[in-house]
Amino acid sequence: MKNRRPVFTRTTVRNVFWNTLFISGLYLVINIVFLFILNYESKRIADDHLMHEVEHLKNALCVECDSLVIENPKEFSESALVTVSPRSFYLQVYNQKGEILLKSENLKFIGELPLYFPDKHTINKIVNLKVNQMSFRVIYVFLKEGEESSGVIIQLAAQRVSLFKFMPNLVFYDLISFPLVLILIVLGSFVLVRRGFAPINKVIDLANSISATELNKRLDYKASPNDELGRLRDTLNNLFNRLQMHIEQISQFSDNASHQLMSPLTVLKSELEYILRKSHQEPDCRETFGVMYEQTDRMIKIVRTLLILAKESNFIQKESSILNVSKLILNLNKTIQKKMLFLEAESGLYVRGDDEYFYMVMQNLIDNAFKYSEKGRPVQIRAFSEKSKVIIKVCDQGYGIPADQKERIFERFYRYDEGNGNNNSGFGLGLALVHSIVTSMGGVIDIQDNPGGGTCFIISLDALSVE
Ligand code: ADP
Repeated sequence: MKNRRPVFTRTTVRNVFWNTLFISGLYLVINIVFLFILNYESKRIADDHLMHEVEHLKNALCVECDSLVIENPKEFSESALVTVSPRSFYLQVYNQKGEILLKSENLKFIGELPLYFPDKHTINKIVNLKVNQMSFRVIYVFLKEGEESSGVIIQLAAQRVSLFKFMPNLVFYDLISFPLVLILIVLGSFVLVRRGFAPINKVIDLANSISATELNKRLDYKASPNDELGRLRDTLNNLFNRLQMHIEQISQFSDNASHQLMSPLTVLKSELEYILRKSHQEPDCRETFGVMYEQTDRMIKIVRTLLILAKESNFIQKESSILNVSKLILNLNKTIQKKMLFLEAESGLYVRGDDEYFYMVMQNLIDNAFKYSEKGRPVQIRAFSEKSKVIIKVCDQGYGIPADQKERIFERFYRYDEGNGNNNSGFGLGLALVHSIVTSMGGVIDIQDNPGGGTCFIISLDALSVE
């Protein structure tokens, strides 16, 4: 049964959530920082402009015999000193007595700038000034340097446009664009998280591909041993080493114990057979010996099954040959004599496997089908090919298997007695053996509810084409 990988796992969703929260926060912080930087830069550029302009004006004016002489009148007719715009400059030239010697034409639109007499700390510096609710950056320079007490002062102002004025607009546009940005962040995070987990999923797939019959396989994912994935690979490989060692020990023990039990049980069975053949016993004794014979036979079957299960990891590989499924299925009623067993098989179905073990699979499934059905119910077996697979379906009309039991009934010694006629004649090893043999043959076994009531066991094996 193949595991489908869910797309929205809890870990993926949690990672996407934290990524989104972090990136959205970062987006807002970057927006605000960007606004500060922009504001600072625009102020710096405006100040540079002001400095530059005042130098021009200084060169265009001079003082001769205490009166102001305009050396370059063109400078004063430039639109920056005439009109009112965010790029305009406002000029006043005055002397230490507070007499205004010159002012730009555009000052009539905004009113006079307050006169200020700079000291050595404020001269040549740009300061803030507020006139009629308007903010300005203002610079004061002396027309003739070195003559501070009697010199003429040039006052040049430029309107200050703070970008923080646009803060509400920015917030508005941010709010409008945020849902779209959020969607992009969530999608981006999702793609990144999935990409980030891709190598882990690869390691999981590799680990899943190592089945119980391939315990000698190891993860060969390429990553340095210091890398997280490299460490995960090494940790899992070490775990597999330990598991393999323990399983081999258990298997060895089970194998030894079963072998040790087999000889005394076989002797016991033949002795009981011998006793039962003698006809002169009391009827009571005969019955007791009969029960002992039956129970010994059961024990031999259990031990034989355990012997097979202990060898499961290598028995099919060693002993497999070409197996004619069609023939084996159609011959089943020669050995299993049940009136209500119906067999159907397409011709020419071949797989790789061992006749004896495959027969055990069919025998266990058929036994169960009759055991867990009302008397007289039919059991149908159908073998056919489907896309390079050989499918064998064993369907009964019995008590059925509840969904929560379907996974568990392949476990060793697991029995489910409720609702299946309380049939106590088994020991919970049949399906474990079936599963083991089918898996060793490289196949899968699945359980489905029979639409007409009861259960269907479906075996799927790789088809072999035989010329
Ligand atoms: P056993 O038959 O010896 O108990 P199995 O391993 O063969 O052990 O089966 C395990 C359990 O699966 C059984 O106890 C029974 O409850 C259930 N089971 C198996 N086959 C069928 C079937 N065809 N219909 C209903 N239940 C079944």
